[in-house]
Amino acid sequence: MERVIVVGGGLAGLRAAESLRGRGYKGALTLVSAERHPPYDRPPLSKAVLAGESDDTTVDADWDALRCDLLLGERATGLRLDARGGVIASTAGDLPFDGLVIATGAVPITLPGDGPQHVLRTIEDARDLRSRLTEGARIVIVGAGWIGAEVATTAAKKGCVVTVVEAADTPLAGALGPEAGARTAPWYAEAGVGLRTGVKVAEVRDGGLVLAGGAPIGADEIIVGVGVRPDLSWLEGSGLLLERGVVTDGSFRTYAGEEEPGSVRPDVVAVGDCAAWWSARYGRRLLVEHWDTALNAPDVAAASLLGQEAVYDAVPYFWSEQFGRMVQYAGSHAASERIVWRGDPSGRKWTAAWLTGDRLDAVLAVDRPRDLVQARRVIAAGSAVDAVALADPDVPVRQAVRG
Ligand SMILES: Cc1cc2nc3c(=O)[nH]c(=O)nc-3n(C[C@H](O)[C@H](O)[C@H](O)COP(=O)(O)OP(=O)(O)OC[C@H]3O[C@@H](n4cnc5c(N)ncnc54)[C@H](O)[C@@H]3O)c2cc1C
Repeated sequence: MERVIVVGGGLAGLRAAESLRGRGYKGALTLVSAERHPPYDRPPLSKAVLAGESDDTTVDADWDALRCDLLLGERATGLRLDARGGVIASTAGDLPFDGLVIATGAVPITLPGDGPQHVLRTIEDARDLRSRLTEGARIVIVGAGWIGAEVATTAAKKGCVVTVVEAADTPLAGALGPEAGARTAPWYAEAGVGLRTGVKVAEVRDGGLVLAGGAPIGADEIIVGVGVRPDLSWLEGSGLLLERGVVTDGSFRTYAGEEEPGSVRPDVVAVGDCAAWWSARYGRRLLVEHWDTALNAPDVAAASLLGQEAVYDAVPYFWSEQFGRMVQYAGSHAASERIVWRGDPSGRKWTAAWLTGDRLDAVLAVDRPRDLVQARRVIAAGSAVDAVALADPDVPVRQAVRG
């Protein structure tokens, strides 16, 4: 392999470039990114950057040592997978490769309507929003998910009049399910944030929102945090298998075949927020839009691009800082049978543990970081746990493992 292109200059793209070099790749390396900034971290955008405590989240990287050509402000618009594989770039034209990393992340979903709406994905979005969160401003946030809760936290702290509008009956219903999500609802009132659940938005208009029943909500700024989706438009017609993300095997190798998996393409890997990868642990494809995956999975993608054996089998991990709390989640509770609470979930610090039989599937730790660290290991090992011991917040999670 002599010419590798990485498309996407987020964390996953940078980590793929670093891993390729770390694993001994000596050929030409080019990173193509639509943004004008070198790779930067996004989690602080809805936290320290929005709060005005930080303005630069650039990820440390030694570009000279990496011997990587950085093409910033350059968007891939097409992909050719014939004998002479090539990325078609907006201004640089045809960029031939014999190895390709797709790390183009995701873009926020927006709402219908021609009124102004803000999303939060880039450093520019964060700086723009920060300047609008002024005392007394009427801020309406659509979506009580992770981003909505974090933005609400900061906006309320800055003295804005904040309302969060959520289509589901509880915050975080999609991510946590209604039972655990409901436990976060009181945090909004406590911070002086209005929360309206079970309310669907029809469209955004000048001066506010129109709800599904026709009722208006006035606002100075509308911020939409209803999720993201990979933008795969540049890959359409390329012959790669695409679903909600770029479909890959457990080593992040893509498939040829537009409808069902055909042959594996070992020369094209996809990783980070844009990849729907096969998880042997969960027996299904996962599309994980979390920083930890963007940090760690690219090493596996780089290894498999170089023909080395590697499979990604991590337990997904995510954190959020909202309403003065550190909220951490690990695992997957999609098929779990029940929740066990460690500590009083109406109190300040607690953990929800999802179980199937006596196996721990997932945890949500609220200001209990030790629970998270220990539970993540227990989940990864697949050990059986004693549910009674697990329910006791004074018993360390690791001691709830059955001998
Ligand atoms: C505001 C915010 C807060 C977050 N907070 C947390 C958190 O607290 N905890 C957590 O675990 N995760 C958090 N995340 C999620 C985490 O940041 C993402 O999972 C991570 O950034 C994904 O990295 P990525 O490199 O896959 O994609 P991205 O970061 O999206 O990077 C993709 C890059 O590719 C570029 N690109 C896209 N299309 C093209 C193209 N056609 N050609 C060239 N370049 C292209 C994009 O412009 C972008 O620069 C947060 C995300 C946001 C936006």
